[in-house]
Amino acid sequence: MSRSAHPAGPRHADVLTEGHYSAPAADLNVLDGKVWSRTVTRDADGALTVGGIAVARLAEEFGTPAYFLDESDFRARCRAWSEAFGPDADVFYAGKAFLSRAVVRWLKEEGLNLDVCSGGELSTALDAGMPAERIAFHGNNKTVAEIERAVEAGVGRIVLDSFQEIVRVAHIAQRHGVRQRVQIRVTVGVEAHTHEFIATAHEDQKFGIALADGQAAEAVRRALSLDGLDLIGVHSHIGSQIFDMAGFEVSARRVVQLLAEIRDEHGVELPEIDLGGGLGIAYTSEDDPREPHEIAKALSDIVTRECEAAKLRTPRISVEPGRAIVGPTAFTLYEVGTIKPLEGLRTYVSVDGGMSDNIRTALYDAEYSVALVSRTSDAEPMLVRVVGKHCESGDIVVKDAFLPADLAPGDLIAVPATGAYCRSMASNYNHALRPPVVAVRDGEARVIVRRETEEDLLRLDVG
Ligand SMILES: *Cc1c(COP(=O)(O)O)cnc(C)c1O
Repeated sequence: MSRSAHPAGPRHADVLTEGHYSAPAADLNVLDGKVWSRTVTRDADGALTVGGIAVARLAEEFGTPAYFLDESDFRARCRAWSEAFGPDADVFYAGKAFLSRAVVRWLKEEGLNLDVCSGGELSTALDAGMPAERIAFHGNNKTVAEIERAVEAGVGRIVLDSFQEIVRVAHIAQRHGVRQRVQIRVTVGVEAHTHEFIATAHEDQKFGIALADGQAAEAVRRALSLDGLDLIGVHSHIGSQIFDMAGFEVSARRVVQLLAEIRDEHGVELPEIDLGGGLGIAYTSEDDPREPHEIAKALSDIVTRECEAAKLRTPRISVEPGRAIVGPTAFTLYEVGTIKPLEGLRTYVSVDGGMSDNIRTALYDAEYSVALVSRTSDAEPMLVRVVGKHCESGDIVVKDAFLPADLAPGDLIAVPATGAYCRSMASNYNHALRPPVVAVRDGEARVIVRRETEEDLLRLDVG
């Protein structure tokens, strides 16, 4: 079975006519609240402000390129997720989307739990004071040293991803004289991306243990037999940037079915299921993400219904949104450098960053929006491609967008919805200095991750 909510085809088909783009539907000066963080607005002079501070001041104080993160929006999204799921469920923020000590403190204060997937993320979480029991440790190839560290710290759960790891974690836990709480990550044969999902996906991927051929049931058998492990549930994560809940429906049904099989075989009802993350956000005005309360209701209805049918007690549900929490809360601010109009094609607008601060366009063909933010303009829209300053022709930040035709070097433009997987995937390509992350809240801005310096680069290069 496979479904597609939107017919395949170019996303901008509505503006594409015989190789030419007609004018965009919306006024370029209007900032769509769907793709910008909550406190973003334009001031009387037409400049974008976030947390009450105008971008010109931010650029002057912190430089460009830089990520500006709307802290009150981040906190509001954390609260919306935890309130939507309520006391009988757990929300784990997926730290790989973006993690820093400040973020860990906000999560702790807002009552969320935290997913980590490496020793580095684990040490950031612990250093910033996240209680270990609120941390879940993921990954398809955790090292022995990472597992040791997680067990010693007393993390709330380790998500087991292979047969080797079942044995490894059990041994390490036993050596430490503890029973480690674990879940088993299963691949349910569902693959979900944006507008479509495939219920009969091949288990041809590196994560998880396949449900289909009895491997997952065998993993459960082994985990239940080992003294060092306390098997608390089953975990499934089906994709990313998902809008259609149908994929979760199938994965939840298959996971609940496994719980029923486990009950029949072993006489135990595992108390938890984790349905993973992957919930979509609006990168452009065409994206329509669901609100956390709609997602919570849909997931809990599915699980309740499936459990009733299988005569199981409803397990505690957990979810792991990363992008859906941090993605919409930040934008990247760039200064326009060179502008090249290519006759009959498009205008290339170069900015002072690029694939080193946002690899997603090059890597996944991701779509983004862009706006002129240092001022408004009444000029005609022009079709642009926003590109970086790197020595690589695939160095594209925004593939197709409109900006006012009077755009000039020195103008500030901003790309919204860059809170997730931009700073966390940033690189030093061309010895670029990775940009800072600046948290803005109630008229105050402070650096939470500072800009790299040339000294930082040289410090690692020991000659
Ligand atoms: C990446 C990942 C997430 C978060 O995905 P988002 O798309 O950021 O919500 C959650 N759980 C697991 C296991 C992941 O690998």
